[in-house]
Amino acid sequence: MTMAASLQRAVELKRRGLMFILSSPSGAGKTTLSRRLLGKYKNAAKHESIVMSVSVTTRPMRPGEVHGKDYFFVDNAAYEKMVKNGEMLEHARVFEHQYGTPAAFVRDHTHKGIDVLFDIDWQGTRQLAAKNRDDLVSIFILPPSMRELERRLHTRAQDSDAVVKKRMEKATSEISHWQEYDYVLINQDIDETLEKIDCILKAERLKRVRQEGMGGFVQSL
Ligand code: 5GP
Repeated sequence: MTMAASLQRAVELKRRGLMFILSSPSGAGKTTLSRRLLGKYKNAAKHESIVMSVSVTTRPMRPGEVHGKDYFFVDNAAYEKMVKNGEMLEHARVFEHQYGTPAAFVRDHTHKGIDVLFDIDWQGTRQLAAKNRDDLVSIFILPPSMRELERRLHTRAQDSDAVVKKRMEKATSEISHWQEYDYVLINQDIDETLEKIDCILKAERLKRVRQEGMGGFVQSL
């Protein structure tokens, strides 16, 4: 590797990891988008990799969900203990259940320059923004219409009619927070939305303030 190439490589590697947040009402496509974004970077080099923050929740497991992959499913006592011990980066009550982000995983990765993807609500986004504004990028995903949102919740078939009704009521209040986000996307077409999310990620990675190694590179020019 030439001297210039190795310097450029050092710059690329020296970057703080982003906290990349996707929020939306349930059923707007956020879970699929998160999975596909992670899939895109599955074999990426370290400075381009992104990992999912797996939350802790007291919500019962849905069919098909896996402990440690979708969530860490815990009881109230275990959850409260984590909160009390300061192990959560943020935490909130959503619907009837508690959700929180384990802090250690996020810190370990962002310190190494690895980006972390979050699927959290507006309450968690607010808490993270208050603490880590410089490292945070937030995207709100909107459904094309409320009718389409309801249709998606029904076809997902994971929740009862009563739960779907409650989620629809909640969606309106969730959506009312769209202006607190850096980016807002309407998820009409999943491929197009994924492309937009990837563009945002790529551009945000290149922001001057995040490229800690750039000063040294410029001096060496
Ligand atoms: P679900 O029960 O459908 O998986 O998630 C319900 C809502 O909780 C979603 O809007 C999701 O983004 C949010 N959520 C999931 N994990 C967390 C978390 O760790 N913190 C916060 N604040 N919200 C979360």
